[in-house]
Amino acid sequence: MAGIYIHIPFCKQACHYCDFHFSTSLKKKDELVSALVKELQLRKDEFINIEVQTIYFGGGTPSLLTNDELVFLINTVYENYKVNENPEITLEANPDDLSKTRILELSKSPVNRLSIGIQSFFESDLKLMNRAHNAEEAKECLSVATQYFDNISIDLIYGIQGASNAQWLQNIEIALRYNVPHISSYALTVEPKTALAAFVKKGVIDDVNDEQAHEQFHLLKDKLEASGFVHYELSNFGKEGYFSKNNSAYWQGKPYIGIGPSAHSFNGKQRGWNVRNNTKYINEIAKNILPIEIETLTTTDRYNEYIMTGLRTIWGVSLDKVEKDFGKTYKDYLKEQAETFINQHLLYIDNKHIRVTKKGQFLSDGIASELFKLNLT
Ligand code: SF4
Repeated sequence: MAGIYIHIPFCKQACHYCDFHFSTSLKKKDELVSALVKELQLRKDEFINIEVQTIYFGGGTPSLLTNDELVFLINTVYENYKVNENPEITLEANPDDLSKTRILELSKSPVNRLSIGIQSFFESDLKLMNRAHNAEEAKECLSVATQYFDNISIDLIYGIQGASNAQWLQNIEIALRYNVPHISSYALTVEPKTALAAFVKKGVIDDVNDEQAHEQFHLLKDKLEASGFVHYELSNFGKEGYFSKNNSAYWQGKPYIGIGPSAHSFNGKQRGWNVRNNTKYINEIAKNILPIEIETLTTTDRYNEYIMTGLRTIWGVSLDKVEKDFGKTYKDYLKEQAETFINQHLLYIDNKHIRVTKKGQFLSDGIASELFKLNLT
């Protein structure tokens, strides 16, 4: 079981908070798509005898590709890899690209899951973040998309400066009206070198408020759980049967190939990063060179990654798996380190799995780093 991630590095405009890799010039789109096709062909031997269960178009803004381009890429996957008979094929899409005609067109393509970057239904939030869509487009695209797609995820951002808890609750309530089966929600963070960081530094915008983000996280969790969603990962809520297969595989340490500039890959032992530059990527691929840097993970790296992802999920960290994959020393170390957090009611052990309590959930990344092993053994 494996996944293919395809990075589409173009956006109409730069959202103020974003530090992903993208270009706002679409001049090289054709060349880039050809390079993506070629990279898929060049790497086909990495998945010999491994079945591809998920294909994920992320970005950037994959909905900037035409349907023909998307189908061309999907067909290339089918021609070069062994694909499950019912794969999850996700397209990240922005509301301003999802006209009724486009949604209809997509519903007839192999894409069977939409992940829509709504972020907020409020004009003030969308302007602050410099999103390319407005509140009306966010609502309109959802009312049409839900008629043609059953498997839809939306992204929402909390902890936005100036957005009260009451406004955040309204955001969640509006989202719930559309009956989407999956919601991903993230706290707004001020990443270095973004426009948001510059505004905060100049005092034009306040810094994000961790306390407000923490409150809004709990408002979200309570509201969505009461509406039948399972909080299966720190930032992800899904109805039964609608958890993201792509992300779940990633959290469970399954292999994936990342195609396109800045895309990451993982084969169980090594992690790879493609070059974060569209021109360099296109030029290298044209010479049949994979523009990838590879790092072999040590046992400690793999243990730390498992702790980080495991604690964020409903499945927690399995003590048996830690012992089997990394050795008894790691299991003993983990139990010893977890003790303090168990006493503080931030972690608990249930059926040989360490999980975060409700109180510890928002802090899970910080707790995980305390359970990391630092020495290279
Ligand atoms: S659309 Fe997505 S990838 Fe593009 S700038 Fe905005 S947040 Fe970043």
